[in-house]
Amino acid sequence: MPKRVELHCHSVFSDGTLTPAELVARAVKNGVELLTLTDHDSVSGGPELFAAAREAGLDVRLGIEINCAGEGAADRVHMLGYGIDTASPGFADRLSEFRERRAVRSQRIVDNLRALGIAIDFADVRAGAHETLGRPHVADALRRLGVVKSRKEAFERFLIKGKPGYVESMGPSPAEAIALIRDAGGTACLAHPQTAGKEGELDALFRDGLQGIEVLYSGHTPSQIRTYGDWARTKGLLAVGGSDFHGPNTGREERLGIEYDDAAYGAVMERID
Ligand code: AMP
Ligand code: ZN
Ligand code: FE
Ligand code: FE
Repeated sequence: MPKRVELHCHSVFSDGTLTPAELVARAVKNGVELLTLTDHDSVSGGPELFAAAREAGLDVRLGIEINCAGEGAADRVHMLGYGIDTASPGFADRLSEFRERRAVRSQRIVDNLRALGIAIDFADVRAGAHETLGRPHVADALRRLGVVKSRKEAFERFLIKGKPGYVESMGPSPAEAIALIRDAGGTACLAHPQTAGKEGELDALFRDGLQGIEVLYSGHTPSQIRTYGDWARTKGLLAVGGSDFHGPNTGREERLGIEYDDAAYGAVMERID
């Protein structure tokens, strides 16, 4: 029997618009049997996630997504972590360091926007965030100020590389992200590989200890699913997948959950439990 599984989604603790409890309710409504929350640089959604899941009788896990930085493909790498012991020494401290760097970056983006004559303050950006800050919070602030109509418009006009608000990611290197996840007992998986780069550009990740890759991603075409499925088989990587759901008004609001067959589900559960 195929199962509906979600291994990649975001809550208000990073750049999603639903609370962990709202995600649980939506997962149940969408027929999802296993939900993993993967907020950017935060595991603070955990207590609410587990409490809501207990009430609803839903199987849930807590993961992470770390956006990386560096030369070449490195600054397009997003690393997912599953099966982490969030209480392992140093883990929480590294995440809070990454969040502080995100705040510095957001402040610099605000400075760039102010230089364009847009009356945006860092406080406007902070106002929409629970914990982890990112460009989506800048986008939401621009929307509240009436400068843009959507996150998508804000990214396209101001926030992507080459646009006037852009500031480089200040995340860790892919090697650091992989090590952080593995040292906490987790499994490090490359998110949405189609946005990270070509096979040749990603060689370093395999040397640095990457363990899995998103194959069944909501944005993948059938041919991408075949390509990344082949990578998983030939490189011995765990095939994971999810929707990257962010919630209403984010431009990333696919239906929660992906159909997994028994073999794919079994392989994932063996690693993330
Ligand atoms: P940051 O972590 O600050 O670099 O922002 C990257 C995040 O912004 C990604 O994880 C996505 O969730 C979101 N994002 C990127 N591009 C877009 C877009 N065009 N529309 C909406 N959200 C986006
Ligand atoms: Zn995101
Ligand atoms: Fe991502
Ligand atoms: Fe994501």
